[in-house]
Amino acid sequence: MIDIFIDNTAIPCNEGQTVLEAARKNNISIPHLCFHPALKPSGACRICGVEVTSPTGRQTVMLSCVLKVKPGMVILTDSPLVRSHRQKAFVRLFRMAPQAHRIRDLAHRYQVDLPPEPDGCIRCRLCIRVCQEIVKAGALKMEKTAAGSQVVKGDGQCIGCGTCANLCPTGVITVTDHDSVRTVAIQDRTVGQLPLERCEACGRMYATSDFLNRVSHISPDHPDTKEHHSLCPACVKLMSTRAVTEMAHLKK
Ligand code: SF4
Repeated sequence: MIDIFIDNTAIPCNEGQTVLEAARKNNISIPHLCFHPALKPSGACRICGVEVTSPTGRQTVMLSCVLKVKPGMVILTDSPLVRSHRQKAFVRLFRMAPQAHRIRDLAHRYQVDLPPEPDGCIRCRLCIRVCQEIVKAGALKMEKTAAGSQVVKGDGQCIGCGTCANLCPTGVITVTDHDSVRTVAIQDRTVGQLPLERCEACGRMYATSDFLNRVSHISPDHPDTKEHHSLCPACVKLMSTRAVTEMAHLKK
């Protein structure tokens, strides 16, 4: 038997044991995820780092699951050096498996701050910019929340054009048409809910009234554009094909 010192307490150990095994046997808490008593240690998760003082007095962090005990070894499990190492190791694991509650719970237990859970948005602001610069609705903005910066409903009114969803590189913005209402949402955050208009030719719900009013307002007063605003894109296409065919027929 040999003695090592963990957090200033002498711990009797068997030669060949690891520091983590000695700590577990003596109910000393060191976080670990990749250790299993039936398997050889690998040091893969890296969260079991402890501070070791070398004979020269130098402090370093080593992984307790692979570190073999030595007589008189001095170990700290919760020093500033350990906390800094632990923070980096937990963030690394969290990035690989953000859905894992076990990592989040363990981090919480050891007072490690993790970044907000990824929400599918890469903060490119394309949606905000297109809504502001091109659609001119200003219906989206970036806001600081408890979960970090998020795209939220802006001060302007969404017209349900769907341009933000079309441009979103990660597909996190959705446009859903249901019961004559279009809903634009970023995950569970609704940006706009607007009534849909029916196509006068086929009866299909195809665009929001606000969007059609906007198009009608900004497009020049020309019969080739305005007369088609009450038709869905498919019917407009059909009518133009018919018109072209009829023109060709007349020319014969
Ligand atoms: S759907 Fe709404 S939020 Fe998106 S670009 Fe159009 S007006 Fe802006």
